Amino acid sequence: MVAGWVFRPPRGPLGDTADEQPIDEPPIASAARVAAAVRTGMMTRLPRPPRRRVMVVANQKGGVGKTTTTVNLAAALALQGQSVLVLDLDPQGNASTALGVPHSEGTPSTYDVLIDGVPIKDVVCQAAHLPNLTCVPASIDLAGAEMQMFGMESREWLLSRALEAYDLEQVDYVFIDCPPSLGLLTLNALVAAGEVLVPVQCEYYALEGLTQLMRTIEMVRAGLRPELRLSTILLTMYDGRTRQAEQVATEVRNYFGGLVLRSTIPRSVRVSEAPSHGQTVLTYDPGSPGALSYLDAAREIARAAFDPPE
Ligand code: ADP
Ligand code: MG
Repeated sequence: MVAGWVFRPPRGPLGDTADEQPIDEPPIASAARVAAAVRTGMMTRLPRPPRRRVMVVANQKGGVGKTTTTVNLAAALALQGQSVLVLDLDPQGNASTALGVPHSEGTPSTYDVLIDGVPIKDVVCQAAHLPNLTCVPASIDLAGAEMQMFGMESREWLLSRALEAYDLEQVDYVFIDCPPSLGLLTLNALVAAGEVLVPVQCEYYALEGLTQLMRTIEMVRAGLRPELRLSTILLTMYDGRTRQAEQVATEVRNYFGGLVLRSTIPRSVRVSEAPSHGQTVLTYDPGSPGALSYLDAAREIARAAFDPPE
């Protein structure tokens, strides 16, 4: 140990890498330390949650960071020893792209699961670069699925039943990436989930539309899935140089209190570049501020399994 460096005592039941960070470690050194740990597969393992957690990443606004949050949190948890499944429920298939999973038209995907009842085990793929992460891709075929689902029996339950039939014994986290609407696809995700994670972009009108989302969650709780709860809010694309971002963050924290993660995700070019390399920022540039903040957010989420927000 370098003289003068004091290790912080572990907080709570999780031995996490942030807690092992030497006090006074310069940011550049901690970035290098974490990057090396990611690259060598030496990240501290988080304990598995007591029960499998199914988290739906929803916000009917487009471009707020749903897909980015889904893949990067999933990757951050996978790198810390969790077994993670990502279900891509957006016809654009951006989550599949970022996980390096093929999803061209006709690829077996969530469309086949929902419309033809194909078992998840027959369409699930291994994510590139991340051994603990699997993905059910979405292809453009999903674009017409909502219309087809309208005529189907128990149409809100299609995904929930498919997940129940899938052997999730070894899966710790399921993340479901939703399209930017509150249609039948998102409804299927909510009915299949235990928790809702809402990414909120730090810009004006951030809270606009959230009332509608909350109403939808209440409706699902009342009629279809009483155990569903809004568990997590994550502030995304935070630009600390602007007063506006700070104001939005304060407003969101005042409104949602303890549901808002302390970690915020900074606006960072590396985060937006990673998908074009078929990667998450966690493997693309593990020491970058975006990667570090997703690792922090993932640890907070893992901690909430032991110490859920009030
Ligand atoms: P959604 O899934 O809600 O539509 P995305 O995750 O696709 O939103 O993000 C919208 C755009 O913003 C994408 O181009 C993405 O690369 C970019 N983006 C998301 N998060 C960040 C970030 N932290 N820094 C920079 N760009 C980001
Ligand atoms: Mg998206």
